[in-house]
Amino acid sequence: QHEEALAARSKDNLRSPICCILGHVDTGKTKLLDKIRQTNVQEGEAGGITQQIGATYFPKEALVKKTAVVNKDDSFIFNVPGLLVIDTPGHESFTNLRSRGSSLCNIAILVIDIMHGLEPQTLESMRLLRERRTPFIVALNKIDRLLDWKKIDNNGFEDSLSLQKDRVKREFEDRWNFVHTQLQEQGFNSELFYKNKNMSRYVSVVPTSAHTGEGIPDMLKLIIKLTQERMTTNLMYLSEVECTVLEVKVIEGLGTTIDVVLSNGVLHEGDRIVLCGNPEPIATNIRALLTPAEMKELRVKSQYVHNKEVKAAMGIKIAADGLDSAIAGSRLLVVGPDDDEDDLLDEVMGDLAHLLSKVSKTGRGVSVQASTLGSLEALLEFLRVSKIPVATISIGPVYKKDVLRAGIMLEKAPEYAVMLCFDVKVDKDAQAYANEIGVKIFEADIIYHLFDKFTSHMKQLEEKKKEDSKMLAVFPCILNPVAVFNKKDPIVVGVDVVEGNLKMTTPIAAIKKNPVTGVKEIIDLGRVTSIERDHKQIQVCKKGQPSVAVKIEGPNQPLYGRHLEEKDTLYSHISRESIDTLKKYFRTDVSQDEWKLIVHLKKEFDIL
Ligand code: GDP
Repeated sequence: QHEEALAARSKDNLRSPICCILGHVDTGKTKLLDKIRQTNVQEGEAGGITQQIGATYFPKEALVKKTAVVNKDDSFIFNVPGLLVIDTPGHESFTNLRSRGSSLCNIAILVIDIMHGLEPQTLESMRLLRERRTPFIVALNKIDRLLDWKKIDNNGFEDSLSLQKDRVKREFEDRWNFVHTQLQEQGFNSELFYKNKNMSRYVSVVPTSAHTGEGIPDMLKLIIKLTQERMTTNLMYLSEVECTVLEVKVIEGLGTTIDVVLSNGVLHEGDRIVLCGNPEPIATNIRALLTPAEMKELRVKSQYVHNKEVKAAMGIKIAADGLDSAIAGSRLLVVGPDDDEDDLLDEVMGDLAHLLSKVSKTGRGVSVQASTLGSLEALLEFLRVSKIPVATISIGPVYKKDVLRAGIMLEKAPEYAVMLCFDVKVDKDAQAYANEIGVKIFEADIIYHLFDKFTSHMKQLEEKKKEDSKMLAVFPCILNPVAVFNKKDPIVVGVDVVEGNLKMTTPIAAIKKNPVTGVKEIIDLGRVTSIERDHKQIQVCKKGQPSVAVKIEGPNQPLYGRHLEEKDTLYSHISRESIDTLKKYFRTDVSQDEWKLIVHLKKEFDIL
């Protein structure tokens, strides 16, 4: 039996690769999928394309037909039995197609609108693809929108392009060059698929139209070429089951079911399975392995067909007891006769535990909540790179208990009393409670939007602190009085700024030696409430600028002529606290010379 298994594990016996479609909203992901699925009426039924749960399966025969127009001499040989395309385009399914942190998606199509170029979610998709090291091609979609494009339905791209007017060809070149440069800026070398001599170094770009079907034959051929040439080891059959939960759904009559992608191995009705649950792991038996019924079978009551066993790659719905707390993105393992179920339970829970191990050891950080294990993992990776500390993580909708937990930060580190919620619902009571206690809830379905919201939150806090600490910050200066206009309440003196900058609200002091005791005495005059030159208010007077009239106000002012004399040098009254404030909030506003002056003033004021 072992030899049989080994023989089966060869390059001539590959399983079907799994393909995901990613890209910015409205680039045409859904339309492209529809177009690929569509059977070609003239050529009759395109051979056994099957609708699975959450995926569409294209057997080899269908692929051969769909690529015929760009494989006229049949020189391109298909080594894979077919292609499994995940039906829900976007991040969610991609991030959930995961196993031990790597991706079960063998190849991805990144759709870019040729009229728009790279857009925010395009960048996010590229980040995910890079993180998971998933090979991808770019579909440069909507070529039919180039002005004056003459279509030939479902044609190969090169042929269609060659038939266009020069002006159209030029517009294509310009737009493609623009996207090429944008990809370059993101660190990706790219090349049009028919010019690409090195698929491991250059991302292949296929121009497509989901409306006319042009370029789609090229795209399909390229996906197969790339997978069977470069990823055969990933596509070899394993006896071991490799399976991931894409969605958890309640279905009438079946209870809670899980939609899974079986990427390797075989599943049987009755198999004992384990998967990650929230908070407890789940062990149960497969009650039914379901695939959609075809139209003609819909007469029978159920929409589903029951299967005794299914073989990878396949999208299926599993009905079983105890699936209520299943987490999308979880791995699914089969308990074999020699396996210890507890070990396997530990293993599946290990995925969540692994994410938990990534939270901040100091206990200071934001709270993160996501809909699935996959998106949580992607979000945590992003926050790690962005250096935003995370204190707690959770999966599923936000309830009051989650807000309560995030609220712990209000005491510890109020700036982190923030919940970053990715693609999850926030319960009304939870939101109300958050408003009441002052926990901020940020929601988004694009990861970096959460980053933007958090960053602007931090900036606002910083601005507020800066504002609050303005009175504490003292910029250094030394003043030489040249005239006393008013001796007290308020003091008004004409001064020259001999060092530093004189600013509004600066506290001013004189330092005198007591003639009797010889002890240094600091005489506080108050704060600067007005700076005037030629009867005009100014905010700052810098060293060396013409004299200014300064009004100084404060309680218990000294009297010029008694406590003070015109010749007494005046200083900005700095303190330990004022220096710390400058360092914390105004570091970039203080010049090198001003720091030197601070050192000098520290001595004058005997600050340690
Ligand atoms: P998704 O959000 O990426 O799934 O985008 P959709 O497939 O929903 O397409 C968004 C819009 O773009 C729809 O109005 C489509 O009809 C249109 N669209 C998609 N592909 C093409 C294309 O190749 N050419 C043109 N002209 N429009 C397209």
